[in-house]
Amino acid sequence: MSGDKKHLVIIGGGITGLAAAFYMEKEIKEKQLPLEVTLIEAGPRAGGKIQTQHKDGYIIERGPDSFLERKKSAPQLVKDLGLEHLLVNNATGQSYVLVNETLHPMPKGAVMGIPTKIAPFISTGLFSVPGKARAALDFVLPASKPKEDQSLGEFFRRRVGDEVVENLIEPLLSGIYAGDIDKLSLMSTFPQFYQTEQKHRSLILGMKKSRPQPSGQQLTAKKQGQFLTLTTGLQTLVEELEKQLTLTKVMKGTKVTHIGREEKGYSVTLDNGKVLYAEGCIVTAPHKAAAKMLSDLPAVSCLKDMHSTSVANVALGFPEGAVKMEHEGTGFVISRNSDFSITACTWTNKKWPHAAPEGKTLLRAYVGKAGDESIVDLSDNEIIKIVMEDLKKVMKINGEPEMTCVTRWNESMPQYHVGHKERIKEFRDALKASYPGVYATGASFEGVGIPDCIDQGKAAVYDSLAYLFETYQPPLS
Ligand SMILES: Cc1cc2nc3c(=O)[nH]c(=O)nc-3n(C[C@H](O)[C@H](O)[C@H](O)COP(=O)(O)OP(=O)(O)OC[C@H]3O[C@@H](n4cnc5c(N)ncnc54)[C@H](O)[C@@H]3O)c2cc1C
Repeated sequence: MSGDKKHLVIIGGGITGLAAAFYMEKEIKEKQLPLEVTLIEAGPRAGGKIQTQHKDGYIIERGPDSFLERKKSAPQLVKDLGLEHLLVNNATGQSYVLVNETLHPMPKGAVMGIPTKIAPFISTGLFSVPGKARAALDFVLPASKPKEDQSLGEFFRRRVGDEVVENLIEPLLSGIYAGDIDKLSLMSTFPQFYQTEQKHRSLILGMKKSRPQPSGQQLTAKKQGQFLTLTTGLQTLVEELEKQLTLTKVMKGTKVTHIGREEKGYSVTLDNGKVLYAEGCIVTAPHKAAAKMLSDLPAVSCLKDMHSTSVANVALGFPEGAVKMEHEGTGFVISRNSDFSITACTWTNKKWPHAAPEGKTLLRAYVGKAGDESIVDLSDNEIIKIVMEDLKKVMKINGEPEMTCVTRWNESMPQYHVGHKERIKEFRDALKASYPGVYATGASFEGVGIPDCIDQGKAAVYDSLAYLFETYQPPLS
């Protein structure tokens, strides 16, 4: 690297790594920092799990399809890139929970399955009378004793009982984490539920109180979806990020195999035999790859032991009139005990009307969850056959799909099991002590959602710059 400039290497070109490079450049330009940046991505394209395919007029998201509007970093990044004209909210509509081949409308006011309105919960056919009575115990049960962490299952089963957990909470959560509710960490996924219980004792009453009350204007306005995507597909976000990197040297199709401690800084060994030298590194590759690079550090054992679930999704396009649904809506999740292979299905053309040609139906079904991942290894045709059989139990489908797209994501969903936060803290403390200036971040660490990844990428930028430049001050917000 040239002159007196320092060098920083970002490893992994998913949304975490790309956002880190983007905000790093912003800081370098604004503060005139003498720093050169290299981003190294193992695959032939940048974007990681964000991938869109355009096929026969359909816009198919192979990975994430949207992000939460409420978490500000993602809409902000879209604006920083000048892409806000492409932002669109999801169309709202009824969503369902499938229990034993019957679709039940999602009870109004349910937040991650916890009721905040009582009447829809009393009238729903989703739970038996004893199940509802058990859930009502939440009103009288004391708050649990303060605890460092516990599983989501332990927490919710205690508050609202097994039936509400299995018929509603588990299918909603497994859509996000593809995980086992009895192993997933409450504090690493939804700490706000624990805080609500500790503050208000009753989860239901606490959620009711802490939900923002809609203003008069909001009550009369048409309800807006909570998610955002780009009308050209989310891949535009990562493509534009890469395009706008003007100072960063981007190396694709190159794997980092090892990060070694040198007298001054670090050696970053690539799979083509080359070695780069840098004063700092931001590792955003998934945890198993990070563990290999940092194999000299004994504390990586916690990353090696962390499981990731394999999942797949199947997009199916149908000509006009081929799919008839008794229940019109945006999709359904499936209760744990139902005899289905798919875990959920989105009626994508209802949720995202821009994603399918006028009049056509685009369905997206999901398979694979913790403890039931073998389906992901089947051939495309076998997966499509299983998915079609399941869908036909719920809706009338004439003929075969005119378009199919199967996407497998092997070991792609990092599982934040109980104690995750503590383990990550111990790992990072050890990393800081032995490899100062090397940061490990991204979906394996502090949140899997796109906005969480952007936040983590940004935080790593500010930490790195504070490490590299003594007088550096991060931006105020
Ligand atoms: C099917 C699916 C659906 C999802 N849906 C949503 C959703 O709707 N909304 C949402 O907010 N989130 C969703 N997520 C989660 C979200 O997409 C991911 O958590 C996020 O994209 C991860 O970004 P990342 O940059 O941390 O990791 P990744 O995208 O995994 O990027 C890491 C990069 O590191 C590279 N790499 C690996 N090893 C090396 C190496 N040795 N050297 C160099 N590079 C390496 C990889 O090739 C990869 O490009 C979904 C995830 C999946 C799998």
